[in-house]
Amino acid sequence: PDPTLRPERQSEDNDRALRPQSLDEFIGQAEARANLKIFIQSARQRGEAMDHALFHGPPGLGKTTLAQIMSRELGVNFRMTSGPVLAKAGDLAAILTNLEARDVLFIDEIHRLNPAVEEVLYPAMEDFELDLVIGEGPAARTVRIELQPFTLVGATTRLGLLTTPLRDRFGIPTRLQFYTVDELHEIVTRGARLMGAPAEPEGAREIAKRARGTPRIAGRLLRRVVDFAVVEGDGFVTQAIADNALTRLGVDHLGLDGADRRYLNLIAENYFGGPVGIETIAAALSESRDALEEVIEPFLLQQGLIQRTPRGRMLAHKAWAHLGLTAPKGQTD
Ligand code: ADP
Repeated sequence: PDPTLRPERQSEDNDRALRPQSLDEFIGQAEARANLKIFIQSARQRGEAMDHALFHGPPGLGKTTLAQIMSRELGVNFRMTSGPVLAKAGDLAAILTNLEARDVLFIDEIHRLNPAVEEVLYPAMEDFELDLVIGEGPAARTVRIELQPFTLVGATTRLGLLTTPLRDRFGIPTRLQFYTVDELHEIVTRGARLMGAPAEPEGAREIAKRARGTPRIAGRLLRRVVDFAVVEGDGFVTQAIADNALTRLGVDHLGLDGADRRYLNLIAENYFGGPVGIETIAAALSESRDALEEVIEPFLLQQGLIQRTPRGRMLAHKAWAHLGLTAPKGQTD
């Protein structure tokens, strides 16, 4: 597509176009990819449904994308739903009874399943059976329905919130990692090419370095940089354009945005570097604890900017340096 034509309107189409379509096109997560390749091929050769897989890790790392790729490579349908959407056992039963043999059912945010719905999932996962209760009170009876064998792919940002029985029923638990700058560099370069706005290597690298290890963020930043390249440059993603655009968007050199810096500044200025409890931080920032734990903290931890201690969160030395502040005396790492 021509980037001069309403880049904003194209963003959704572009996103679909940017999604890798096969395991070979998928960049990064080498270990998970190598294993999945084997499991997919084995399931195909045996003509069976692949075992259930659980993808966990921070948002935007490719859990949904990998599940879609799995279904494509298995040659089966992809059905998608999410934990909070399945309010009643019947909602899940309706989906399960409509699956064709060996289909992939993707349940996003699986840690947010209602317990009554989760109960339905156990026999479905284990024996491809559904126990439905018909009627109420003394007249109630259970009927057993046979399901087609299927593959459940669960995704969660919070492995710790999954119940043990659910967790134990996944034969293929897979942790997704933050991406390296080199991997994101490849992803940005490919994305820019697909958007018709070629990126110079230093331009792509600047975006990759500031994408918080996350392809979704890399894609979002790339689209904004392309906007600047189209309007203020000649359509090429150069380092100068990328740096200027990202700085104007409030993304600093480590890739931290306003929300990240507010978090770090709060601990530095109001709590002398901590330790401070997560609930206190959430209240002071008017953020939910979940959002802090799922979205903000994983990258700050991975970057060694904060530490989690039994008494709460603490700033690490690197964070003081990044904020341009001096750690109080006696503060150690
Ligand atoms: P999650 O389900 O983990 O939140 P998604 O699978 O929705 O993440 O991916 C978020 C975005 O990042 C999508 O636009 C997807 O195209 C892109 N993406 C994810 N992983 C990759 C990858 N390895 N290579 C290229 N793009 C990716």
